[in-house]
Amino acid sequence: MIKHHPNPSLLLAFTQGQLAASLSIAISTHMDHCQTCRHQVLALQETSAQCLDIDNAELEEWDNDEMIAAITDDDFEVHPKQSLPIQLNIKGTDYTLPQALQSVGLSSWLKLGKLARARIDLNEGEVHTNLLHIEKGGTIPLHTHKGFELTVLLAGKFNDEHGEYVPGDFIWLNDTNTHSPTTETGCLCLTVANDSMHFVQGLSKALNPIGKLIY
Ligand SMILES: [Zn+2]
Repeated sequence: MIKHHPNPSLLLAFTQGQLAASLSIAISTHMDHCQTCRHQVLALQETSAQCLDIDNAELEEWDNDEMIAAITDDDFEVHPKQSLPIQLNIKGTDYTLPQALQSVGLSSWLKLGKLARARIDLNEGEVHTNLLHIEKGGTIPLHTHKGFELTVLLAGKFNDEHGEYVPGDFIWLNDTNTHSPTTETGCLCLTVANDSMHFVQGLSKALNPIGKLIY
């Protein structure tokens, strides 16, 4: 069962379209798995739709002809985008990427030991979004975070000091959290982070390539 959800202020910002693409994708992906958050977002959308009705009443004072001309502008055509689910096969396991990732660019995979990541091309500066695959038996050494690190588990399972995570879990960590994720089955995650991780055990020089790979 999913135990980790976006907090209410994130869901509100998502509903109002105020989030960066990386966080919107992460929340949409969580909602694919989580009925509770889908219902909350629907309720928030209904509330904001009622607010819009008030705004529309004010619009009637505008020049109606001009407004209708703008709405029915013939040059503006919308073609529904037909995208097929993106299937990935990583180390013999098939994965279907979430709907929110169907139309974004994905870089080639970089691999290091049991870890592999592909960058999702969103152009958000220091905020990097990745697909991270950990092969069965893989571990990320004990670390904390200089900034924030958001993980949405897409498939498989992993554990850390705080428990076990299942697909859909939305795990938001910062510099107050230390953990070492490990997976028996292998897993695929969506990660969003705004700085590299900080290893707290072992030779950080030796672990730096892992940190760079994951961020
Ligand atoms: Zn949820």
